[in-house]
Formats: sequence, C-alpha cells, structure tokens
Amino acid sequence: MKIPPKSKSYMIPEYSLTGDLLSYITCGLQYRYQNKGALPPSKPVQRWFGEFIHGVMEESFNQWKFGKKEFPWDWKDDIRPIEDEIDLRLQVRGLYPHDEDLFFSINQPGQDLKREDLNEHDHKKLASARAEKAINIWGEHLFPLIDSAELLIKGLRPMPNYDKNISRSNYYGINGVVDVLTSTKINRMHEERTSANNNKIVNFIKSNIKENSIGEYEIIIDYKGMKRPPIKVADPLSEDKWENHKQQILTYSWLRSKQEDAKDISAGIILYLNELVPSKEDLMMIKEEIRDNLTDVPQNGEFEKDVETIENWKEEDKAPELSDEFKIARSIRFIEINDKEKRKALKKFDNVVCDIENSLIREMKGCKIQDAWKAEADKRTCLACDFKTFCKHNSDITKNI
Ligand code: SF4
Repeated sequence: MKIPPKSKSYMIPEYSLTGDLLSYITCGLQYRYQNKGALPPSKPVQRWFGEFIHGVMEESFNQWKFGKKEFPWDWKDDIRPIEDEIDLRLQVRGLYPHDEDLFFSINQPGQDLKREDLNEHDHKKLASARAEKAINIWGEHLFPLIDSAELLIKGLRPMPNYDKNISRSNYYGINGVVDVLTSTKINRMHEERTSANNNKIVNFIKSNIKENSIGEYEIIIDYKGMKRPPIKVADPLSEDKWENHKQQILTYSWLRSKQEDAKDISAGIILYLNELVPSKEDLMMIKEEIRDNLTDVPQNGEFEKDVETIENWKEEDKAPELSDEFKIARSIRFIEINDKEKRKALKKFDNVVCDIENSLIREMKGCKIQDAWKAEADKRTCLACDFKTFCKHNSDITKNI
C-alpha cells in the first residue's frame, strides 16, 4: 500500500480583540515580546486589574442571578469572598497585583490573616474600592438586564493580502467575550419603572438610542479597568484609546451578528470602572483633559461644582470629593452601531492583522525581532515597558532608567 505524504498542517491564526488588536496598537514590539514570545509582563498591573474587575463583575452577576441579594452588598461579607476567589484564579495564571496599594491579597504563603481579620481601613485598597463601587453602583442597574453573560463570540475573515506562497493561511479567526442585553429586558424594565426603580442604564439607553428605528435589538456591554479616555490625543505617538474602544465594540457587533440567535445589534456600552474611584494619576489626567478641552464629560457647563473642585485640586492634596453623578456620567459611554462604521472597524482589524502577519513572516525568514516589528509608543508606555532597557526604538530619556 502506498502511503501518501503527510499534507502540510493547516492552521488558522486566531486573534483576540483585546489581547491582540489593542495590545499590538499600543506597541508592536512590546506585543511581540509579551504575546508571541509568551513572556508575561513583570508588572502587569493594568492587565491584572482589567482581568480582576472582569472576573469580579462576572462572578457577582452569577451570585446575583442565583441568590438575587439586594444591593448594596457589604464589602467584607459579600464582595471580599468574590475578590479572593478571582485573586486566586489570576495567581494560577501567573497574574499578581504587584502594587501593594492596588490590592491586599490574603492568598499568599505565610499570610496568617483570615477574611474575618480584614478591615476596610487597612485592607480595602484601590482595586477593592473600585470593585465595591462597580457592583453597588452598576450591578443593581445592569444585572437585571443581562441576557447572556461572558458570551464567547468568534468569527472568520479572509486573510488580508493573501498570497499562497507567503501567507500562513487564507483565513484568520477573531474572538472576543462580551455581555449582551436584550430589548425585551430593557423595555420591560422601562415599562415597570417607578421612581423607586429608576434604572440608570435603561434611562441612558433610552436617551441615546433612536426609538422605533428597529424591532428587537441587543446591546453589547464591555467593562474597562481604566479611566475614560480623552476624545483626542495630543501626542501623535499616543494610542487613540477613544477610537480604538469604539472599533472594538463595532467588531464585537459584527461577530455577534454572525451568531444564529443574534438580533439586530443597535449599540454598545462601555463602562470605564476606574472613574468610580479615580486614582491621583487618573485625577491629574482628568484635570488636564478638562483644561485642554479633550473630554466629552463634562461639557457645556455641566457638573460645575465638580469641575471647580478638580481645577482647584493639587496633586499633593488628598483626593477630592466628587459627586456620584459626575463619576457615573464619566464611567458610561454609548457607542452607536451602523454598517458603515462596522465596515471601517473591520478594515482596521484587517490592517492590524496584516501588519502582525507580515512581521511574523519577516521574523520567520530570519529578520531580527527588533527590525521585524514596528515599535512606536509614547513616553508613558515606554516608561512602563519591561523591554525599555534593550529596545533600540525607545527614547534616550527612558533608556537609562
Ligand atoms: S520600550 Fe517603548 S518602543 Fe520599545 S518595546 Fe517598549 S513600548 Fe515599544
């Protein structure tokens, strides 16, 4: 019997919206070292917090769904057990809250404290304060509207600039994870609304969405463990997070529309959870953005008192007291979805995948890593980068640190 030669293995490269797209846009070379080189960052504070807050929201939703415990939840009794569980899950994956001002972990060898020993003053650090606010401010309004939580959405697209002699595959895969709200639940909540049951998310959707433009619809929700980005970036090397988050939601909506049970996707909502408890660094940036007119909240004389408080606040002072209304308004963003914008977002995703694939192919052909990958980032990103000491694209200012 003649055994045919083994055919060339067929592999479709898979790209995730957050892990690949947003990470590559920040800096291609950093993405290569961290993702393709499987080197986790030594201080993955941003990544740890992003995953932590997603995990906390997901687990809180599950507990609410099966127990329907009334809000507000108590930090020590209700929220801290969830935080500890998520902290453990992240540790298993090698993700730690290195910054001790961010999170107090009792899941450490030699740590003799028990949960009962924790107290709010010493142990409720920034991540816990944000988790508590995220659950108690948004959970009450958001959880009753969620139809599918942590929904994995996947899709295939033709490989941009496909060349059968060079390209790794004729298709590539995209994936992402989202929460989905449906119009049925939104409308029911709207009809049942009383002054005691004033759902902030329903009100926000109803004030932004064009009524009666569609029948049954869905809204995609994503959480971000960061402050609201500025609507314009002053430094051309800085990542335009405002635009990139919009592209991400538009791509999610395309992916979701490919699924069998999907309804029309009418909009996306992003919750910027750091706004609920901003750090001093966040506050400095908010102050600059208000001064330079780079933010959409506040606008037209809104939140006058909060704006005045921020303008008069100095970095060496204690963090100022801001109103809940101001923090809530800054933490929620509406993204309209239409076909034209969706096509633009997909084109952008294709371009990023094309760049990544070209860099990979260059490297596979023997090009040095630093020459094969595009390295461009603003000073802030370079300063926090693990590879700054040997990156030849880094600016001299951060190289000697
Ligand atoms: S130092 Fe800057 S340019 Fe170099 S890899 Fe890091 S972020 Fe990119």
